[in-house]
Amino acid sequence: MIKTKAVMSDAKGGFFIDEIILNPPQAHEVLVEIKASGLCRSDYNLMLLAENIGVLGHEGAGIVKAIGDGVSNVKCGDAVLLNWATPCKKCVDCKSNKEFLCEQIASKTGTEDLWTKPAHDGILHRNKPISRLLGLGTLARYALVREESVNKINIDIPYSSACIIGCAVMTGWGSVVNVAQVNNGCSAVVLGIGGVGINVLQGLKLSKAKTIIAVDINEQKLDLAKKFGATDVILNTNIDDTLRKIETILFGRKADYVFECTGNSSLVPLAFQSTQSGGKLIQVGVLTGESPIDMNWLHWGKSYVNSFYGGCCPDRDVLRILELYQKKQLRIDEQVTQMFPLNEFQSALNALLKGYDIRVVLNTCEN
Ligand SMILES: [Zn+2]
Ligand SMILES: [Zn+2]
Repeated sequence: MIKTKAVMSDAKGGFFIDEIILNPPQAHEVLVEIKASGLCRSDYNLMLLAENIGVLGHEGAGIVKAIGDGVSNVKCGDAVLLNWATPCKKCVDCKSNKEFLCEQIASKTGTEDLWTKPAHDGILHRNKPISRLLGLGTLARYALVREESVNKINIDIPYSSACIIGCAVMTGWGSVVNVAQVNNGCSAVVLGIGGVGINVLQGLKLSKAKTIIAVDINEQKLDLAKKFGATDVILNTNIDDTLRKIETILFGRKADYVFECTGNSSLVPLAFQSTQSGGKLIQVGVLTGESPIDMNWLHWGKSYVNSFYGGCCPDRDVLRILELYQKKQLRIDEQVTQMFPLNEFQSALNALLKGYDIRVVLNTCEN
């Protein structure tokens, strides 16, 4: 039994920090000492909607402290990072290389199920069993997770960088490599340069896209975009103006691939209208707000696809990402632009909401 502090949803749209108790892992569970946890916009959005008390956080990296019976992929002392796909590896989707769509994944089944409890009274707050966001709950010094959520880190990488692989990097890079499967020499527009957008840019550069146009409302983000692979940048102040600028850069054409990474439904018309005939619009993640979609926008062979978790199979893609990092082809350290101790969660949240950072990371060892 371990006592630790955790950041939890308060079931009223806010959070609080209090002590939790984690029981020893049971069969197929792993207890991880979390060293760093990334803060994702989804933590905030799901905190606002939470109707339960539960440990927040779904990007984490740390050390295996204990394993339950039957765990064979890691052992005590291993450095690991966590994924929230938690693929069962037995269902039809998992067996056809779509682990991100695993039929067991809680996040496919509704908002309330995004908060999963351990199968037993694994985590207690004031003597009551509580949930973990996306089956992880990384905003604490310790997390009790399923073995399928744990991926071994086989290279030298700081925990503060490794932790963001589990959501931001897999989602962004995977959207290019697994979902869009972009062609060498193509053109692409990336709407929204945040933690995900920056990894879309890197994926495009690695895939040898010829023209990579970054669009954001924040000039500072556009400066960063250039450092992460954008060949051109546009400060979006007006949709018509942005569309004109995209066409000017592409010599009157539109983009072969458009990655919508803001989740803001008001940008859907821009996303469709900047996609070339025969091109692909990739909606990365979840759209918020109503979006009137004119189906005529899909004419001339355009396709629209939602990228869920970057189409990633964690065992396969974590290894690929770590290898790219080791070869210095994928820059991850530079994405962590601010760190806070766990007990300064409010400051971390303020930084996230200001929107100037690529990724804010919590140092879960300091609390
Ligand atoms: Zn996330
Ligand atoms: Zn499955």
